[in-house]
Amino acid sequence: MKIVSVAGTKKTGKTTLVTMLVSELVKRGFRVGTIKNAHRKLDIEGKDTWKHQKAGAQLVVGVGEETFFLVDEALELDTIIRKIECLRYLDFLVIEGFKRSPYPKIATSDLPGPLVLARVDVEKVDVDELKALADLVETRTFGLLANMDCQECGYSSCKEMSEAVVQGMTSEDVCVMKKLEKVVLTIDGKKIPLNPFIQKFVKNTFLGMVSSMKVDTDEIQDKKIELLIQNEDNR
Ligand code: SF4
Repeated sequence: MKIVSVAGTKKTGKTTLVTMLVSELVKRGFRVGTIKNAHRKLDIEGKDTWKHQKAGAQLVVGVGEETFFLVDEALELDTIIRKIECLRYLDFLVIEGFKRSPYPKIATSDLPGPLVLARVDVEKVDVDELKALADLVETRTFGLLANMDCQECGYSSCKEMSEAVVQGMTSEDVCVMKKLEKVVLTIDGKKIPLNPFIQKFVKNTFLGMVSSMKVDTDEIQDKKIELLIQNEDNR
């Protein structure tokens, strides 16, 4: 899944551009998700879900014609992406806001920085410009960074590699660590970098344990295996 942000100051047409971009990408056959940085409390004071949260619930789920989840803290963008399993099956994630995120941006106002893919005046965006923007999103964006700064790709850091993708000088496929990322460790939603040696060690040890549990090893070939450790007493 590749990520792009539409960022700029207030009332510069961010939501309009997000909807235009989503429509264009969907028209091209991609599965698209969105996240909006709302900068305010989302629940409405006095509503039942608000009362549930006020009572101390850490997670509140509201179910009606739609379903929404409320947690009692503002999560980091990467944490949200890693926690929401279904996001992994998308082709593109379009985020509104998060102008300081490490992902490529389409700026609706003056926004400096090497991660800016394009600057647009939303009121003047026509069909051709929208198509050109979607082309840029297809070719010059990338997904979650490995964030290991190992320099194996020839760049001095993941940040430098990501800037080169936005400039059209490379693609995220150069990231050796992403390809080697066969084992992912997250603690409370935060990814912990593992070098290839540790990944191999964990994988082999775990698969050895699984094969001793009367699990058909042929059946788990090429399958994703997840182990969750609740590292708290009394659970
Ligand atoms: S290979 Fe991947 S993890 Fe290493 S510096 Fe390059 S982008 Fe970052």
